[in-house]
Amino acid sequence: MKLIFERSVEGYTNEMIAPCDVPLVDIPKEMKRQKSLHLPSLPQPEISRHYTELADATFGINNGFYPLGSCTMKYNPKINDEMAAYPNFANIHPLQPEHTVQGSLEVFTKTENLLKEITGMDAITFQPAAGAHGEFTSLLMIKAYHEKNGQTQRNKIIVPDSAHGTNPASVAMTGMITINIPSDKYGCVDIDALKEAVGEDTAGLMLTNPNTAGIFDKNILEITKIVHEAGGLNYYDGANLNAIMGIARPGDMGFDIIHLNLHKTFSTPHGGGGPGSGAVGCKELLKPFLPNYYPIAKDGKISFTQPEHSIGQVKGFYGQFSVFLRALTYILFLGSEGISSASKSAVLNANYMLHELKDMFEVPYGESCMHEFVMSLDKLKKETGVTALDVAKGILDHKMYPPTMYFPLTVPEALMIEPPETESKGRIDEAIAVYRKLYEAAHSNPEEFKEYPLYAQIHRVDEVRAARHPVIRFNFDDE
Ligand SMILES: *Cc1c(COP(=O)(O)O)cnc(C)c1O
Repeated sequence: MKLIFERSVEGYTNEMIAPCDVPLVDIPKEMKRQKSLHLPSLPQPEISRHYTELADATFGINNGFYPLGSCTMKYNPKINDEMAAYPNFANIHPLQPEHTVQGSLEVFTKTENLLKEITGMDAITFQPAAGAHGEFTSLLMIKAYHEKNGQTQRNKIIVPDSAHGTNPASVAMTGMITINIPSDKYGCVDIDALKEAVGEDTAGLMLTNPNTAGIFDKNILEITKIVHEAGGLNYYDGANLNAIMGIARPGDMGFDIIHLNLHKTFSTPHGGGGPGSGAVGCKELLKPFLPNYYPIAKDGKISFTQPEHSIGQVKGFYGQFSVFLRALTYILFLGSEGISSASKSAVLNANYMLHELKDMFEVPYGESCMHEFVMSLDKLKKETGVTALDVAKGILDHKMYPPTMYFPLTVPEALMIEPPETESKGRIDEAIAVYRKLYEAAHSNPEEFKEYPLYAQIHRVDEVRAARHPVIRFNFDDE
């Protein structure tokens, strides 16, 4: 595929650009650029073709099955985007006087109320721009809480090894220290290790639940109790609420604070890195520490406030409005029954796949799962030399997206599968057939796997070279 600079033909101008309607000013010569700017010149149909070609080269949920574990690549209803593009929402400015945007401010309070109900929390902030940013915000709030109580020695955060990789990274960002604890043979928190780890210096626990193996920790009430009794706070990584929304509430399980990935569970397209919203919900005790721009309704008017001991601002203005607007649309569209049935379908689909594949592929924690499960291809690799990476590349030839690979780190040769809740049984059966076929091919024709994918737009890439020597911009002749 040609890049837009390679398609450019000198001399083409685009007459669609409106004439200048402000006075022209003569810029002093020394301030002018010496060389002309590298702008591609193309007639409009060629621009349109360029973007269509790019879209065709992209695989999304609209192209096929997309079971990317831990990422919740769900179908995002088009009505969400219609709402986000609605001019009265899309054309407002963050510095506009509050009384002129009351309708938009209601989007905050309405979404907050619904998410409070779903999570069991008492307040929600929409400032964080993504999941990891929500973790960071939550940890700053936990830190501020202990400091306010004169407990500055509480600087350790306990993170089980089955947590998402962003958890310890976020702890490091706040200057606190991660205490890693192992999981037991079911992939859940090792209670004895937790009891051993808590103490005077415990700031809190970060728990990813369901954990990265797709398991709901059966000891969850005991876990939160142990941390509370030691004086710590409980944080719930709710990026993957897709398994429990409308069914169980972290606020009822002893958690004080949670982040949600609205771009995962509550439907915003998020492949390629954004935009996102890592909304944070907290209990009453942490409310004074919320970031500012916290909207409050008073005397029929909504305005932004700064909570008493606010950690300050973690993002310009109030967060990614269009993402929580999509979340609101999604929740209202599904209603409370639809929300819980989305969770139930997600869990059913994952369990169906697990049970149809586990006679071939090893599933380490695998009697049942929540919205996703992890297979280990370690045995397959030992028997045939075919790795998880090879199988993932083979899947590309079947017009499907491969699962998440080599994550979680606790499982060797891991493939982590999360089938979206909207998939029909027919589609899931097709996917199961592909996995089974690849398993058989690994035994009958293992050499061929090193060449996969054979039919995708780009064939086998050298992943190390691609990562070490990324070519991320066009090189012009005159450079
Ligand atoms: C995706 C995910 C995150 C990180 O979210 P980002 O929006 O990518 O920053 C954190 N925790 C879990 C469990 C996740 O699945």
